[in-house]
Amino acid sequence: MRPVSDFAQTVKQQADIVKIVEGYIRLRKAGATNYSGLCPFHKEKSPSFSVHAVRQFFHCFGCGVSGDVFTFVGKIENVSFPEAVKIVALKCGIPLPKREFSSPEEAAESRLRGRLLDLHEAAATWFQEQLQSPEGAVAREYLSGRGLDAKGIKEFRIGYSPDSFHALRERLSQMADADTLRASGLFSSKEQGDGTQGPLYDRFRKRVMFPIANESGRVIAFTARTLETGDKAGPKYINSPETPLYQKGMVLFNLDKAKTAIRQMEFALLVEGQMDCISVFLRGIKNVIATSGTAFTEQQVALLRRHTQQLVVNFDPDAAGAKAAEKSIALLTEEGFNLKLVTLDDGLDPDRFIRERGLEAYTRALREARRQSDYLIERARLAFPGASPEQKVKAMNFLLPHIRRIPEKLSRDQFAHDAAQKLGIDSAVLREELRQAALTRRDHVEARVTALSEVERVLVRALAVEDPEHAEVRRMAVQALAEQPQWFEHLGVCRALQAMAARQAKDPMVVVEDEGQRALVAEVLLGETKPPEMAEVLSAVQEIQERAMEHRQRELRTLIAEAERRGDFAEVIVLTQKRLELDRALRELHDRNRNPV
Ligand SMILES: [Zn+2]
Repeated sequence: MRPVSDFAQTVKQQADIVKIVEGYIRLRKAGATNYSGLCPFHKEKSPSFSVHAVRQFFHCFGCGVSGDVFTFVGKIENVSFPEAVKIVALKCGIPLPKREFSSPEEAAESRLRGRLLDLHEAAATWFQEQLQSPEGAVAREYLSGRGLDAKGIKEFRIGYSPDSFHALRERLSQMADADTLRASGLFSSKEQGDGTQGPLYDRFRKRVMFPIANESGRVIAFTARTLETGDKAGPKYINSPETPLYQKGMVLFNLDKAKTAIRQMEFALLVEGQMDCISVFLRGIKNVIATSGTAFTEQQVALLRRHTQQLVVNFDPDAAGAKAAEKSIALLTEEGFNLKLVTLDDGLDPDRFIRERGLEAYTRALREARRQSDYLIERARLAFPGASPEQKVKAMNFLLPHIRRIPEKLSRDQFAHDAAQKLGIDSAVLREELRQAALTRRDHVEARVTALSEVERVLVRALAVEDPEHAEVRRMAVQALAEQPQWFEHLGVCRALQAMAARQAKDPMVVVEDEGQRALVAEVLLGETKPPEMAEVLSAVQEIQERAMEHRQRELRTLIAEAERRGDFAEVIVLTQKRLELDRALRELHDRNRNPV
């Protein structure tokens, strides 16, 4: 469960979800406590999106999303929970508190991060100034050679680090002590004879500086391209080292600028290089992000998933990046992303292609992006040409791991079918191999509960009771769950019921973590007009007890039959005794239910 701070609670109590949602979409009153409108999270023509004004939650009957005001704002603004709390607070005019920390270490860490952000901001501004200085002429020339004009340079805050070991250090030394400067990653030092680190000197010299920003657009690191040629040049690109601000695998380049467009266009364009990304973005394709040449990490996948699961991938065809590109594609496929791949004519990279052929040609290439399966089959055909059985086996072995990786069975089937057809595989054995690959991939989809029985609905309603007048109904249900948890184990929504029983004053929409179960709870509560009667809850609990006992009865029958088969008669006697007791208890329960006291 997400941690809910006191501040978040305060904001939630003061915010009205109906007003907040109305800031984004049009709502109409649809009942005593409900409003409805067109769902902003999936495409639809008739409204299936509901907001419950009293219980302060939303639910879409079309796509199944549901949650509270923070879930809504988090989803629609593509922000994390703390950001969503801030946004809602601002909309309600609630002043933000000074951050509170659970430990002195956390406070120190946060102070350090704050200082490092200030240092990076100052460094970025200073690099921008240096680009305009006489010494920056060589960098300006390089950038205009790459087709960047002053506007683009400003938008991406591109700068220049002069050919000096101490210019930046002098500039920033007033802002922070030596330890903080060292932690910023903007400086280097050499180890000395006694093992200690020597004085700091500027890490980036005579390079074009590209700032790397986090999702909120703050500069947290730099990529620096050399302007030297020959032996003195060093590596073409160097990056900031990992710092408390910057972990390479946790950032997607340009996501801060691209996220709105990604949401509007419902897909992201993924390129490898930052220069490709900048170039394509400045020419009008705003939903572009870059991996910076390394393979995707799980954190980056998670970051991206919040914005889209549809990707058009335009990686460099050159061999250097191919390995990383393949790894990224494999991971994204496994994570259920829908990929299309672009191959540009004449092996051009996106930057050169769009500069030489123009925006229209590039947009056309994006439209013609091939499904991942077609792209891979084509690659297999090119890598293993010819019609000999050996070549076909090799092509198949290249494809099989890709097929197995796809989470949905239907897509795997389609892929296997296409591969057999396009590779001209007529051998029954090979076709069987492909079929197996499509079959055997374990689906990660959990067995889902799709509907609730009447008893479960009564319990959900009882556990969701808020007003003190009906508190007894809730207390009754909570008590049953606490005293006889084994009765409820067989119910599909058992976990949701347990969470709701333990929620105390918390919102039911917040405590039920499983999205599928939360949707079921939301459906019940949206259809509810009043809390259940005490008698309804009592009989629901009795029915559940009955069902649990019948379940145990069947279990005992199986165990007895097994013991008989083994000839273990001592066990048979013990089990039969238990069964007789259970039978009696069930009979009594039936009688009591028929003649309630
Ligand atoms: Zn929806």
